[in-house]
Amino acid sequence: MNQTVLDGKVLTTIKEWKQEHSQPISAFIYDLQALRERARQTVSGLPEGCRLFYAIKANPTQEILKCLEPIVYGFEAASIGEIRKIRQVSSDKPVIFGGPGKKDNEIEEALLLQVKLIHAESILELRRISHIATRLGIQASVLIRVNLRASFPEATLIMAGRPTQFGIDEEQIEDAILLTQSLPNLQLEGFHLHSISNNLDAHLHARLISVYLERVKGWRERFGLTLNYLNAGGGFGISYTDSERKFEWDTFVSELRQVLYQNAIPGVELLFEPGRYIAAACGYYATEVVDLKCNHGKHYAILRGGSHHFRLPGAWQHSHPFEIVPVEQWNYPFGRPEVWDVEITVAGELCTPKDVLARDIQVSRLRVGDILLFTLAGAYGWTISAHDFLSHEHPDHIFL
Ligand SMILES: *Cc1c(COP(=O)(O)O)cnc(C)c1O
Repeated sequence: MNQTVLDGKVLTTIKEWKQEHSQPISAFIYDLQALRERARQTVSGLPEGCRLFYAIKANPTQEILKCLEPIVYGFEAASIGEIRKIRQVSSDKPVIFGGPGKKDNEIEEALLLQVKLIHAESILELRRISHIATRLGIQASVLIRVNLRASFPEATLIMAGRPTQFGIDEEQIEDAILLTQSLPNLQLEGFHLHSISNNLDAHLHARLISVYLERVKGWRERFGLTLNYLNAGGGFGISYTDSERKFEWDTFVSELRQVLYQNAIPGVELLFEPGRYIAAACGYYATEVVDLKCNHGKHYAILRGGSHHFRLPGAWQHSHPFEIVPVEQWNYPFGRPEVWDVEITVAGELCTPKDVLARDIQVSRLRVGDILLFTLAGAYGWTISAHDFLSHEHPDHIFL
C-alpha cells in the first residue's frame, strides 16, 4: 500500500465527492492528462511506416475517444455501435472494422460511414462484404484475419495458434485469397494477425511481428499480391498482479526497428491496435467499504460496488491492486468496525460468491467508511461489466 503512487488529483476528487454526497462512493475516475501522455509516448516511439489505432472496446467513452482523437492515427471498432461512437467524435478519422459475426446492416452502414478497412473473419464474410459493396456500388478494402498455425505459448489469452472463433484458419488461406481475387468490389489490402493478449514480454512481441512479416511476405510472393497493410493487432500487456512488471515499450520499438530493418515489406504499413495498454492506467475505481465481517475465520470487506461495475478481476481471476484511502468521518452514535493487520477478501454488493475483487490481501488497517481505490481500471472495467445485475445504482464517471 504505497500512498505516494497515488495521483494527488484523484485523491482531491474523492475528497470533494465525499463533501458533496452523503451516500458511500462508487465512481470511476479517469485522468485524461495521464491518458494523453500515455498515448503520446506510445505513438511517438513508433518507427516510420507504423500506425497506431486505438481499439475502443477497451474503453469507448466519448471523453476518452475525444482525448485520443488528436493523438492516434485511427480507431479500431468491433461493432456498428462502436463505429457510431467514433463517428460522433470524428467524421473522417480512419476506422478499422473487425470482430466476428458481422451482420449485413453493420457491414452496409460501416461502408457508408467510410471505414478504411474491414477485417474479414471468415470466407462467408468475404462474400457478404463483396455482395453488399457491389449493391452499394462502392469498393470495400479488406484485410483477411488469419488464425496462424503456430503456437505462442507465453501470453495470458491466446487468439491464434489453436482453435478459436477468430479469423480464417491458415490452412484455408489459399481458398480465401483466391476468392478475394474473384469477388467484385472487394480489394484485398493485407492481413490481420492479432494472436496474443496481455503480453508482457517486449522481446516476444518483436519476435511475433517478425514471424508475421515472414508469413505475409510468403503469401504475397506465392499469390502475387499487392499489399498495403499488415495489422499486427494489440495485446501489449499490463501486469495487474506485479507492479514491478511492465511491458517495455521502448525495448519493443527498438527491437521492432531491427525487425523492420531486416524484414520490412516495401509499401506495406504496419498497423497496431492496442486497447488495454493505452487506457488501463488512466482509470481508477473508487469504492467505499460499507461493512466488515469475519466468516469462518476469514475477513471480508463489503463494498458499495463490485463486479457489476468492475468485472475485470473476476474475468481474469486475479486479485486487483488497490490502495486504501483513509476517511476520518464517522457519523453514527455506535462504534466504527475496523480490522488491523489481517488478510482481507474484498467482495462487492452482489448476491453471488463470484463477486470478489481481491482475495486474502494483507492490510495494516481498514475501517468501514474507508475507500478502496482500484488502480489500472481504465480498460475493460466498466465496459465489460453486467451493470444492471441486481439493479444497484450505477457508479459515477468522473473525467479529470
Ligand atoms: C480486443 C482486440 C484488440 C485490443 O486488444 P488489447 O489487448 O486491449 O490491446 C485489438 N484487436 C482485436 C482484433 C481485438 O479483438
